[in-house]
Amino acid sequence: MNTFVDLHMHSTASDGSLPPEELVRQVKLAGLSAMALTDHDTVAGCALAAATAAAEGLDFLPGIEISCEFPRPGTMHLLGYGVDIHSPALHELTRRLIAGRTGRNARMIELLQSAGIDVTEEELLAEAGGGTVGRPHLAAILVRRGFVSSVREAFNLYLGQGGRFYVDKETTTSRQAIAMIHSAGGVAVLAHPSQLRRENHAQLMTVIKSLADQGLDGIEVIHSDHRESLIDHLSDLARRLGLLATGGSDFHGSSKPYITLGRAGRRRIPREVFDAVRQGIAKRRP
Ligand code: AMP
Ligand code: ZN
Ligand code: FE
Ligand code: FE
Repeated sequence: MNTFVDLHMHSTASDGSLPPEELVRQVKLAGLSAMALTDHDTVAGCALAAATAAAEGLDFLPGIEISCEFPRPGTMHLLGYGVDIHSPALHELTRRLIAGRTGRNARMIELLQSAGIDVTEEELLAEAGGGTVGRPHLAAILVRRGFVSSVREAFNLYLGQGGRFYVDKETTTSRQAIAMIHSAGGVAVLAHPSQLRRENHAQLMTVIKSLADQGLDGIEVIHSDHRESLIDHLSDLARRLGLLATGGSDFHGSSKPYITLGRAGRRRIPREVFDAVRQGIAKRRP
């Protein structure tokens, strides 16, 4: 049967607006046959999502999205699929990243307050509802309180790289992230290569080749940010380097209302993509 899947989405365990169970139900309602949950710096939503997926008859892979060191203005995110959610290596890294976020949030709040924008850490924690706290939560508060008119404006003026209140996040190196993903039994995939902001295809290839040397297993070819010409180029690159070609919407719910589950622009993600990732995970297991 010709079905579709989505391998990149966020729940309330990070900066998505739907709780894991609700997100899985929405995936089912969207008519997809398989999914992966990929919250920033945490697998806290995966157990509940997996149980709901099983009950709904959906195939599921636990996942995570990790931010890695990379020169501005680019950002590098790595996706880990099929990781053991109880892996000590994974928990050591996520603990460090989440602790880093706590310090960063305090610093951003300090900057906002010193500019007369009265937002508190308590308010931010409440907005995040127990999940990993990110800039989208702060953006939501700024919009609600009328300091800006939209999330886009919040990022452009204040929270984006180069914005007035932007503070760097604790990250890890791609080498460490790939090693952690592998030691947790997963495969490592470069998320949305467009966000590396390389100037041309040759530069992009250089980055991806060096990641492949570090053990990268795949690239996210289909993504909401990717235009057709980039998808073609990345497919070709994946084929030539022997990497998995994956895809996902990067659904966040209400904080990015223009993104729909199971869709990446005009594209959908064929079922074979999920099966290939699952095979890649099986191959890494002894
Ligand atoms: P953080 O993990 O706190 O650095 O925040 C990263 C999140 O902010 C990711 O989900 C991004 O997609 C989101 N984000 C980054 N830049 C923007 C932007 N200009 N508009 C909306 N969301 C953004
Ligand atoms: Zn996010
Ligand atoms: Fe990302
Ligand atoms: Fe994401």
